[in-house]
Amino acid sequence: MDSSAEALIAQVTQLHATLNQVGAYVFTKDLQGRYTYGNQMVCELFACSLQELVGRSAADFFDLSASIQIQLSDQRVLQQGQRVEMEEVNVFSHSGEERVYWSVKQPLFDAAGAVVGMCGVSTDITERRRLETQLREQKRLLDTVLNSLDALVYMKDHQRRYLYANANAAQLFGQTQASIVGKSDAEMIPQTEADRFGIMDQRVLGSGEKSIGEETFVDVNGVDRHYWSIKVPIESHGHVDAYVGISTDITEVVQLKEKFRDLANTDALTGILSRRCLLERAEHELKRARRAGAQVAIIAFDIDKFKLVNDGYGHAVGDRAIISVVEACKQGLRGTDLFGRIGGDEFVVVAVDTDLAGAVAAAERMRLGVFNAVISVGSGQRVPISSSFGLALSDLDTSLDELLSRADAMLYEAKQRGRNQVCYPELLDGADSL
Ligand code: GH3
Ligand code: MG
Repeated sequence: MDSSAEALIAQVTQLHATLNQVGAYVFTKDLQGRYTYGNQMVCELFACSLQELVGRSAADFFDLSASIQIQLSDQRVLQQGQRVEMEEVNVFSHSGEERVYWSVKQPLFDAAGAVVGMCGVSTDITERRRLETQLREQKRLLDTVLNSLDALVYMKDHQRRYLYANANAAQLFGQTQASIVGKSDAEMIPQTEADRFGIMDQRVLGSGEKSIGEETFVDVNGVDRHYWSIKVPIESHGHVDAYVGISTDITEVVQLKEKFRDLANTDALTGILSRRCLLERAEHELKRARRAGAQVAIIAFDIDKFKLVNDGYGHAVGDRAIISVVEACKQGLRGTDLFGRIGGDEFVVVAVDTDLAGAVAAAERMRLGVFNAVISVGSGQRVPISSSFGLALSDLDTSLDELLSRADAMLYEAKQRGRNQVCYPELLDGADSL
C-alpha cells in the first residue's frame, strides 16, 4: 500500500472516530433512501452493525406510517435537492417508542451537480421536549393558581422593577401581566404612592430578611386600600437580588376595625364621645396641660328632673331631648373642647387652656342653650328643660378622678341650690373674682 492510500485510510479512520463522537446521529442515504453510512450512535439505536445497516432503509426500523416526517423530509432532500431543518417525531416499529429529533438533512451531489444521496444529522431532543412540556404544564398550573388568588402576587428585582405580577396585581396598576414586567411602581402610580411601597421593598432587599407588615395605597378611584404584605427575599449567587411579595387586600377588615373603634369611642344616641373615650382623652389633655403649664376646666352637667320628661312624654321624647341638649351645648363649645356623655343624662366637657372665667362663660352658654332648646311634642306643646353645672379647674397635682369628683360635687351643689345654674368653689366661697 502506498503512502497516499495509507494517509487516506488514516483520514477516514479519523473521520469515523470524529463522527462517532459528535453526540448526534449522523447518516447518509442513497437516492432510494437506503442507508449508505451511519455513525456508532445510529448503529446502536438500530442495534445493528454498520454492515447490517448499509442497504437498509428507515422503514426497516421506524413505523413509517407513524413517522411520516421522515418520508416527507427525505423526499424533499432527495427529489428537490433542498436542505431541510426540522423537528421529527419518529416511532420505532419494534417497541412503539416515540422519540423527537432535530434533524438537518442535506443533499449530496456528484461532480455534475446531480443529487446522488443525502447526509443527515439528527439530535435526540426527546428529553428536552419532555422537560419543556413538563415546564409548560407546571407554568400553566402555577398561572391558574396565582391568577385565581384574591391576593396580589408579584416579584421585583433589586431595582424594584417587576419581574412578575399575577393578574390581580397587574390590574391594580392598570397593566397587563406582560406590560408590567420591567416597570417600577413610580412609572405607573404617583411617586408618593410608589414611595409607600418602597419602605417595605427596601427593607426586604436591604436586609435580605422576610418582611411582614401593612401597606396602604390610594387607588385610581381615590379609595384608601390596605394590604397585609409578606415579602420574601430571593437569593442568587449568595446575595439577594429579588423578592416575592404576596399582598392581601384587608381594606374591609381595616374599615370594620375603624368602624368598631368609632363605635366604641362614640355615644350611639348623640354621636359625642363615649365615657371611656372621654376619660382617655381627658387624661391625655391633663398631662399635656401640665407640661405646658396650662389649665384645664372640667364641666360636669346633668339634665334637671329628667325622669319627669321620660315619665310625662315617653322615652322616645326623652331621647330627643338628650339629642337637643347635646346640640344646644355644642354651640357653646370650642372645637378643641372634649364633650362626652358619661351617663344617662350626665355629660362632661373638658375645656382646654381655659381659666375660671372662660369655663364659667362656657358653662353659662350651655346652660342657656339647654334652657332655650325647643323640644316640641306636637300641638305646639314644648317640653321645658334645664340643666345644672359643676366646675373644677386643674392644678399641678390633682388627678383626673379627683377633678371629676370635685366637678360632680359642684354639680350636686347646683342641684341643691335649685337647679338650672352653674356652681364652682369660688362662687361658694364668695371669693368669685369674675
Ligand atoms: P336630677 O335633676 O336630680 O338629675 O333628676 P333626674 O330625674 O334627672 O334624676 P337622674 O339624673 O338620676 O335620672 C336620670 C334619668 O334619665 C333616669 C333615666 O330614666 C333617664 N335616662 C337615662 N338614660 C336615658 C336615655 O338614654 N334615654 C332616655 N329617654 N332616658 C334616659
Ligand atoms: Mg338628671
